[in-house]
Amino acid sequence: TGSLASGDPDILEAINNELSRQQNEIELIASENIVSRAVLEAQGSVLTNKYAEGYPGRRYYGGCEYADVVERLAIERAKKMFDCDFANVQANSGSQANQSVLLALAKPGDTLLGMSLDAGGHLTHGARPNLSGKWFNAIQYGLNTETGHIDMDQVRELAKEHKPKIIIAGGSAYSREIDFAAFRAIADEVGAFFWVDMAHFAGLVAGGQHPSPFPHAHVATSTTHKTLRGPRGGLVVTNDTDIAKKINSAIFPGLQGGPLMHVIAAKAVAFGEALRPEFKTYAKDVVENAQVLAKTLREGGLDIVSDGTDTHLMLVDLRPMNLTGKDAEISLGRANITCNKNGVPLDPQKPTITSGIRLGTPAGTTRGFGKEEFREIGRLITEVLEGLRKTNSVDGNEAVEAQVKEKVLALTARFPIYTN
Ligand code: PLP
Repeated sequence: TGSLASGDPDILEAINNELSRQQNEIELIASENIVSRAVLEAQGSVLTNKYAEGYPGRRYYGGCEYADVVERLAIERAKKMFDCDFANVQANSGSQANQSVLLALAKPGDTLLGMSLDAGGHLTHGARPNLSGKWFNAIQYGLNTETGHIDMDQVRELAKEHKPKIIIAGGSAYSREIDFAAFRAIADEVGAFFWVDMAHFAGLVAGGQHPSPFPHAHVATSTTHKTLRGPRGGLVVTNDTDIAKKINSAIFPGLQGGPLMHVIAAKAVAFGEALRPEFKTYAKDVVENAQVLAKTLREGGLDIVSDGTDTHLMLVDLRPMNLTGKDAEISLGRANITCNKNGVPLDPQKPTITSGIRLGTPAGTTRGFGKEEFREIGRLITEVLEGLRKTNSVDGNEAVEAQVKEKVLALTARFPIYTN
């Protein structure tokens, strides 16, 4: 019954420190965003108290009338957003949404064909340490090393050779539009299901700035917290009635018990926001800002995998500068620029070190950064990395980091978040 301030000052202090961190840093992690007050409110609501196993109208608990209202709205809005016939909004995360597809459409031992982690794919697409790689015969495709785009010839060859049950497209560090029609044609050729994991670019699809997985995909999954700018969670959509039934059974009772109703409420709010005209402008700005950032970095002498981006993210290849992703992440972090180290195609370094960093514009664009600001951010990143290269030690770049941090603080102060 007590407030956080009186009941748990340690946690309150950590939350307040996290708020300041978000306010005072330039967030370039491509999978993060800054949700609205409305989304925060819904997620922090009394719906967290409610058990609602089952689906609207078919629950295993009493007292679900308002939970039903919330979930029905979330489903209707998700369907409208992706112009499709079915949505399941209960997956607790993107990974669980992906597991539901595996449970619905395949059996352990079946063959999957997905993009490899080091080419920009996701763990859940058949990576060795993940359930998808342990319980399935996971075959992985990669990129054309010259263009940095998905090697569709390799996808076709591997599909014909291994006859996968499911072909997966989508990734976590792939910056180019994916040719969904070409993937579907290959899937049809070998009798596979075609599954698009649009976790990263779902917000761009909703905002009309990226091709939709439909009508090509049999099923599509997403997270709700990246470009879609909602709470952390997962989503599954399809136009196939049979797959829809299997997905519902796979999520509950296959994988989960009670859905997180407070999160579903926050999803509904975020989906409502994504259906407004302003979200189209937002999505357009995200992509244009990414192009400006990539161009500025290239002008500053940095190497971008595939020479640019069609989406909200880009991968900087640090090998020509002789830097590691780990050192770059640490040094940029000390200058209040937050990003993550990321492997580049054919990376010689371990995943804990890497030769690249991944940068994205969704969070910065939400707080109001436009082209001019992303040009400045590109120059600031270049300054830090140049400093790092010259000093040749992650500990020797302090002077440059301090200078850049001053400029970052001036910039973030002009675009405040969560101040009222
Ligand atoms: N799929 C893709 C393409 C992702 O990038 C991610 C998140 O990084 C996921 C799935 C998993 O989402 P979550 O972290 O919510 O499990």
